Amino acid sequence: MSRPNLLPFFGLAFRTPTTYAARVENNQKRQGMNATSPIIEATNLDKFYGDFHALKDVDLTVYQGQKMVICGPSGSGKSTLIRCFNGLEWHNSGKLVIDGIEVHEHAKEIRALRQEVGMVFQQFNLFPHLTVLENLTIGPMKVRKISQKQAQETARQYLERVHIPEQAEKYPAQLSGGQQQRVAIARSLCMETRIMLFDEPTSALDPEMINEVLDVMVELADTGMTMVVVTHEMGFARKVADTMVFMEGGRIVEVSPPEQFFTNPSSERCRLFLDQILEH
Ligand code: ADP
Repeated sequence: MSRPNLLPFFGLAFRTPTTYAARVENNQKRQGMNATSPIIEATNLDKFYGDFHALKDVDLTVYQGQKMVICGPSGSGKSTLIRCFNGLEWHNSGKLVIDGIEVHEHAKEIRALRQEVGMVFQQFNLFPHLTVLENLTIGPMKVRKISQKQAQETARQYLERVHIPEQAEKYPAQLSGGQQQRVAIARSLCMETRIMLFDEPTSALDPEMINEVLDVMVELADTGMTMVVVTHEMGFARKVADTMVFMEGGRIVEVSPPEQFFTNPSSERCRLFLDQILEH
């Protein structure tokens, strides 16, 4: 099957910046599309930290609009894999194509890539000396060169989306962990990214705050955003994921639809892992 050539989209990002408003509209249209073209394609990826082999021959395809949940024991390479997807880590061999761009350490398009792929981390990584609104507007103003007025308008829209419009003027330290994580999600949305990666977004939160963040993620999934989520929140996974991935020892051991994954996983190791986490 031939893959659509999306290079012009990236070229556009460099040469003739589309207006921010047009990007917002395009992204909203795209999110509404029921597209099935690959947006992330990893083939035979290997990644080493010194002598340590962290990713082993990883093959994975993510399609536009897909909701993929990656789970597996600690140290299995989940975080490393999704960090490769937005250029925070580099693979040593194999091929990684994101939205038609071949990604490698020296790729010229890496800045464009980072504008397309947002990431929400376990620690929220907000600027402590900036208000919520400033945290949300600094990226679009600096990177996308949009006006403060427009950045603020968009930021307020996304603060509504994550249900904390009243927190705009506060500093991160004045917010709960759940609220800070929702700001972090809104920050990524403000960049109008096409793909959102989540690296254990609820694991640093107190239990009573986990649901408010997962609820926002469920709502985001309903907009059609392409999402790759590393999490052990299996309730969320059952509700949202169309594809489950299990990793162990740097390898992808299982990729299956949730119905099969939760009832009849093909590997014994995955079955054991699920038994352990679903027990609690
Ligand atoms: P997971 O997200 O599944 O817990 P990670 O991708 O964080 O796993 O880590 C995979 C393995 O790579 C672990 O053994 C971890 O210690 C190692 N690792 C991760 N980052 C680094 C690094 N920057 N330097 C050296 N080893 C690392």
